[in-house]
Amino acid sequence: MNPDIELIAGPCSAESEKQVMETAGALSELGVETFRAGLWKPRTRPGTFEGVGAEGLPWLIRVRNELGMRVCTEVACADHVRRCLDAGLDMMWIGARTTANPFDVQEIADALGGTGASVLVKNPASPDPELWYGAIERLKGAGVKDLSAIFRGFSTFSKTLYRNSPHWQTAAEFRRRYPSVALYCDPSHLAGSAELVGEVSQRALDLGFNALMVEVHCRPQEALSDAGQQLTPSAFATMLASLRSRALDSGAADYRQTLDELRAGIDALDCTLVRTLAARMELSRRIGKAKKEGNVSIIQTDRWNAVLERVTALGKEKGLDAGFLTRIYNEIHEASIAEQDKK
Ligand code: PEP
Ligand code: MN
Repeated sequence: MNPDIELIAGPCSAESEKQVMETAGALSELGVETFRAGLWKPRTRPGTFEGVGAEGLPWLIRVRNELGMRVCTEVACADHVRRCLDAGLDMMWIGARTTANPFDVQEIADALGGTGASVLVKNPASPDPELWYGAIERLKGAGVKDLSAIFRGFSTFSKTLYRNSPHWQTAAEFRRRYPSVALYCDPSHLAGSAELVGEVSQRALDLGFNALMVEVHCRPQEALSDAGQQLTPSAFATMLASLRSRALDSGAADYRQTLDELRAGIDALDCTLVRTLAARMELSRRIGKAKKEGNVSIIQTDRWNAVLERVTALGKEKGLDAGFLTRIYNEIHEASIAEQDKK
């Protein structure tokens, strides 16, 4: 087991005492310390398996008592929280669908505050990171001390290779805002298929994650939920052996020297960029004044199209992505129009 990676693993759903004990036993042998299993399952459509509910709580407690693992499950309302606490479960996660609802999050936060339980918060299914930040703030505000977060990607209209669209920048922004909140990646829900869990996990590690929550089932093909994305314990072991974790930093002299040189170059270019943008804006201001004096309209589509064509052609010559340049120039254009529109 790679000691640099913090792991939570277990089935999507707890289905039977036997399935829970068998999966947890295999994971414990691999050195996994924290077991996950959903008891109350938020299913998109009715008529599918919605979890065994509180009936499975004693199975999770058995995992803790007999295997010495920490155990966690998903809670979606205050009643779930109370049932977990009454059973002696002290680690819970808030699922993506629940994070999207501030009323539910507040109710759960109030039930958890001051209990000392560990709580993990998944990002919402919709691409609205503010809801995620809001949930973290509600839990912190309620007095939850041991708080972590789980990145599981977003549901979007445009279908990608993965079940969810990763949008990794959101994870980076979360880390910037909440450096003290441990951030897990959930490659299982993000990927949506067992064959892709390994590559998503590796990508997460390359981007600086050092904690993963992975769905593992003793017999995935028989799973009652998310059958296609769960790994067998042995596939999970193979994946773990192949993962290469990256250090957050390195003190090696040649690495430091290379990075210092390259960063000095970036810093100098950033100065030039900002100065250039300021000079460009000054010209926009003067153009705005001239248009006003000449009583000419601010937006001139033909001129703008010509600018965009020229910069994307130059960008192409320099190996820059056309979409990237267009996004930047649309922002510049918008700011320039706002400047010319000033009274
Ligand atoms: C789960 O972890 O089983 C789950 C339902 O995930 P999410 O809330 O990310 O969809
Ligand atoms: Mn699942």
